[in-house]
Amino acid sequence: APRLDAARLRADFPILGVDVNGHPLVYLDSAATSQKPTAVLDAERDFLTHANAAVHRGAHTLAGEATDLFEDARATVAGFVGAAPEQLVWTSGATMGLNLIAYSIGNATLGRGPSRFALQPGDEIVTTAIEHHANLIPWQELAARTGAVLRHIPVRDDGTLDLEAAAEIIGERTRIVAFTHVSNVLGIVNPVAEIIALAQAHGALTVMDACQSAPHLPLDLPTLGVDLAVFSGHKMLGPYGVGGLYGRADVLEALPPFLTGGSMITTVSLDSAEYLPPPQRFEAGTQPIGPAIGLAAAVQYLDGVGLEQIHAHESALADRMADALRDIPGIRLLGDAAGVERVGLWSFDVDGVHAHDAGQYLDSLGIAVRVGHHCAAPLHRRFGITASVRASAALYNTEDDIEQFIDAVRGIRPYFGAGS
Ligand code: PMP
Repeated sequence: APRLDAARLRADFPILGVDVNGHPLVYLDSAATSQKPTAVLDAERDFLTHANAAVHRGAHTLAGEATDLFEDARATVAGFVGAAPEQLVWTSGATMGLNLIAYSIGNATLGRGPSRFALQPGDEIVTTAIEHHANLIPWQELAARTGAVLRHIPVRDDGTLDLEAAAEIIGERTRIVAFTHVSNVLGIVNPVAEIIALAQAHGALTVMDACQSAPHLPLDLPTLGVDLAVFSGHKMLGPYGVGGLYGRADVLEALPPFLTGGSMITTVSLDSAEYLPPPQRFEAGTQPIGPAIGLAAAVQYLDGVGLEQIHAHESALADRMADALRDIPGIRLLGDAAGVERVGLWSFDVDGVHAHDAGQYLDSLGIAVRVGHHCAAPLHRRFGITASVRASAALYNTEDDIEQFIDAVRGIRPYFGAGS
C-alpha cells in the first residue's frame, strides 16, 4: 500500500497553516480534538446552504432531501465501523453514548421496557483502571442507583491491562464489562478481543469506548463481537456535537430508551406512549443533522486516505517520539510497554517541572499539547502523579512536527532550571 503523504494532506486542513506565538503551529493535541478538513466544513455548509430542513415526516421537498442526506450519513458512518445503518444511533458524542447505555440499563432495572439487562443488587459491573471519566462515572452512578457493585480490571506498571486479574474479576456475577479500546493517556491498543471473550463466557454485556481507536485503526465492530461501542465525531475529523453509538441489533432491541420525546414514538396518548424500534428509539428530539452529514464526510476522508496507512503512519511517529523521549533525562513515559500495538500518542511526566509549565513552554514555541489528568485522574494516581503532558498525532502530522516537538521537550528542564 502507498505510504501516507502527510505533507500533502495538510493542505486539506487550513488551520494547520496558522502561526502561534510567532511559530508555525505544531498541532499535537488530536486526542482531545482533531482538526477538520475542508471536505467536512463544505459538507456541513452545503447541507445548510442547499438542503436544510428538519428530517423525517416533512411533506416538503427540502425535508425529503434532508432526510435522504441524514440517512445516507448514517449508512456511511455505520459502514465505517462495519455495521448496518440501523445499528448506528446518533448521539452528541461519546459521553452521551455511554450515559445513554447506563441510563437505559437503569431504566430496564426499574422495569421500564425490556428487562434482559435489568440489574439485581450485587450484580457486578466491571470497568478498568485506565478509563476516561466518561466510561467510569456513568457506571458509578448506575451502580449507586441499582445496588450493583463496581469492579475494576487493574493496570500493570507498564500500562497494560492485567488480563490474569481480569479472568478472576469477570465471573458469574458480572453483567456488564465496559472498557476502552485505546486509552487516551497511554495510547496502547488493549487486547479487547480477549476481554470480550472473557465477558461472553459469562454472558456479560460488553461496552467499548472507541473514541481513541475509531480515527486511527480499521474497525469492524460486528466481527470484533462487541455488543455496544461509542465514538465522538470531533475526534475523527468531524464536527462537534455528533457521535455514534453502535449496537448489535438484538442488544439495541432489548434496551429501553434513555431520553424520550419527539421522533422516537409510534403512538402517544396523554398517559402512555409506544416507542419506535432502534435506532429511532434512542433519538429523541431534533438530531444534529448538519454535524451527522459532516461526520459522514469525515469518515469518507479517513477511508480515502486508508485506515491501514493512517495507523502505520501514526505508529511510526509514535515510535520516533518514544525513541527520542526515552533518551531525554527526567522524562518518564507513561505506559512504555514493550511489544504492544499503539496509536500515535504518548503522555509523560517531566521530573521537577509541572505539566502545566511544560505545556506553556511548548506553546511558546508554537507546539500544542495537552496537560493535566486528561479526564483519567485514577490512572494518574495509579502512576503516582496528578498530571502529565500528552502529545497526540494524527494523519496530518509530519516527521518534522515530531522533530520540532522532541527538540522543544529537550529544552523544558533546562529552561525551568530542573536539570539538563
Ligand atoms: N473516552 C475517551 C477515551 C476520550 O478520549 C474522550 C474524550 N477525551 C471521551 C471518552 C469523551 O468524549 P466526548 O468528550 O467527545 O464525549
